[in-house]
Amino acid sequence: MTVPLSHPRYQSLQIRERLVAGVRAGITSQEGLIAHGRGEAFDYLIGERTTDSAFHASRAAVAMLLAAERPVLSVNGNVAALVPGEIIELSRTIGAQIEINLFYRTDARVRTIAGHLRAHGASASEILGEHPDASLPIDHARSLVCKGGIHAADVVLVPLEDGDRCQALASMGKSVITIDLNPLSRTAETATITIVDNVVRAIPNMIRLARQMDGLPEDRLSDIVLRHDNREALQDAIEEIVSQWNGQG
Ligand code: ATP
Repeated sequence: MTVPLSHPRYQSLQIRERLVAGVRAGITSQEGLIAHGRGEAFDYLIGERTTDSAFHASRAAVAMLLAAERPVLSVNGNVAALVPGEIIELSRTIGAQIEINLFYRTDARVRTIAGHLRAHGASASEILGEHPDASLPIDHARSLVCKGGIHAADVVLVPLEDGDRCQALASMGKSVITIDLNPLSRTAETATITIVDNVVRAIPNMIRLARQMDGLPEDRLSDIVLRHDNREALQDAIEEIVSQWNGQG
């Protein structure tokens, strides 16, 4: 169906269509649609905008990625369907690797996602995840990772994550950045930095911030990271939702 531009929920319906196309193409799982539904409900409450707290969290996240030795961006079926070109652009801007990591993993789906990212400009060597050779301490398919990618990373961006893997990565001593519209999720609480925003807004914001902040000295970057408090930021995100519906947002 073609959604008319004049439709009040145009953007939101466009996102749904991209995900449905992702399912048809074998990129996104059906369960990914359900996860999206939870995110969409929170996006409605947030007002489908980047809040101040989300913007500040994005800035801290970019500082952390720029200061990292081995940053990795983890990509699942929803991210690949929604922001394929943008995730490649972000990886190049900050000098990070991309690794495909799926909860509902099949080799065919990993290959399809890798092909989709290559069709959006990634080179063969830029995409990890097709041949995992290491594992994380969790008991499902998301444990499969690459030695030279997520396993060795010091900072991992895991958009739309589940709490278990976020916890596993943190327990391995890694800094974890997540993008999650639900400020109450286990992931949001476990991550080092949570960006409470939609990936379709957060990743482009991060690209812009990375361009502005590239070249900042190490001590300035770590100062930005150290000033960020995830608990406080999540509390701010909840207060922004409340004030939005009290007519103060
Ligand atoms: P947890 O285990 O952390 O409590 P969960 O069980 O809710 O999380 P999933 O079912 O995997 O985890 O859901 C994925 C999360 O992704 C949800 O919290 C949802 O709000 C979020 N989400 C879905 N779509 C988007 C999106 N486009 N942008 C950002 N976040 C999203």
